[in-house]
Amino acid sequence: QVVNYAPFTLLPSAVPSALFEQAYAVQQDFNLLVDAISQNKEFLERTLASTIKVDDFTAQLFRIYTQVLEEGLAQSVFLGINRSDYMFDCGVDGTPALKQIEINTIAASFGGLTSRTAAVHGRVLKVLGKSKEASRLVPNNPSKGLALGIAKAWELYGSQSAVVMFLVEEDQRNIFDQRCIENELWDRNIRVIRKRFRDVFEKGSLDDARRLYMDGQEVAVVYYREGYMPKNYDQQNWEARLLLERSRAVKCPDIATQLAGTKKVQQELSQPGMLERLLSGHAEAVTRIRATFAGLYSLDMGKEGDKIAAMAIADPDRFVLKPQREGGGNNLYGEELRQILEKIKDSPERTSYILMDKIKPQPAMNYLLRAHSPLQVSECISELGIFGVYVRQGKEMVMNTAAGHLLRTKAIEHADGGVAAGVAVLDTPYLV
Ligand code: ADP
Ligand code: MG
Repeated sequence: QVVNYAPFTLLPSAVPSALFEQAYAVQQDFNLLVDAISQNKEFLERTLASTIKVDDFTAQLFRIYTQVLEEGLAQSVFLGINRSDYMFDCGVDGTPALKQIEINTIAASFGGLTSRTAAVHGRVLKVLGKSKEASRLVPNNPSKGLALGIAKAWELYGSQSAVVMFLVEEDQRNIFDQRCIENELWDRNIRVIRKRFRDVFEKGSLDDARRLYMDGQEVAVVYYREGYMPKNYDQQNWEARLLLERSRAVKCPDIATQLAGTKKVQQELSQPGMLERLLSGHAEAVTRIRATFAGLYSLDMGKEGDKIAAMAIADPDRFVLKPQREGGGNNLYGEELRQILEKIKDSPERTSYILMDKIKPQPAMNYLLRAHSPLQVSECISELGIFGVYVRQGKEMVMNTAAGHLLRTKAIEHADGGVAAGVAVLDTPYLV
């Protein structure tokens, strides 16, 4: 229970401006895509069929999804807050290309803290006598953009006295990031409460119209900053999750949108013709989205999957093996990847993973500043995230925006892991 400063780089990192713009330009397309998938039962069912046979966590989410659909949705306003993450892949000729790592459709974090990093780096550059460079740092305020989405959903829910509930972790490590968004809501006269699954289990209830109440207070919007990994749930927490999903409250995200963010869905999107089917009539959006895809491969049972597994075993350094998990530190690389695949290559267990081309960015030197860590210069790589926010009422999109960005940087010796996992640190893009 000690407060530390959030880790950050001493200096901003160079980001090619064309790729930065490309990432912003494709964000509204990704918002549309995620929203379309969340409404496509046939696609989710077919895509996740092999996964839910072997992955208990996805299976449990899927059971709630099915149960809520069978009962009929009480919710009519939908709010999506996502973050699409990219690295700059260095091609054979050295030209960097924007390649998506993944899209986070639940609890995408650091929009709050990163709203402050440009000011920190601006100051550092001035101290170093680089005022001209400092003035070139792009302003960035995702916390405001995320709050505007939550505020819109709250307004459309249509009850002045209802509150926004942040569903937060048992152990609140990232509270200050969340407070940045919360403060924006209070500034707009929207009341915010912070509760855990446990509180919902003990004190949450639905009335006949499936309005959600906490301690007698009506809840308009549930903003999840928790609930994306198996260890967030025990039996009671699953019951609390079901109660929330059955309610009329706007869930950010609803369970269908959480499923749309699985790695298996990401892999399926890369299949020929798939984007065209999901986004028919949006040919330009499809082209922009596809341009960001790295190679993704299914390990489903069958001849094709056998070939993919053999290819990865023969050349493990070209790939990343990913289970259906979020939060960093779950992927497998190199020798470890080879060993696991060797072990499970003939078993259905392999279908709980997807395989992805490894993206290889050009490293740069920087200092990573972390409480209680020695100061040393490291060879680093960066990952750019763009925050997407959208609100849908019934069938109509009423908001669709890119709300800001996040740059995270880590030392190259760490293959995996984000800021919360203790590996990456907050950074600011310096456009070149
Ligand atoms: P999680 O849901 O756990 O955040 P990610 O897919 O974002 O999973 O992977 C975690 C980290 O692993 C990323 O932040 C990135 O550093 C690294 N990583 C993931 N995929 C790739 C890839 N294809 N190439 C290189 N690094 C990757
Ligand atoms: Mg990630």
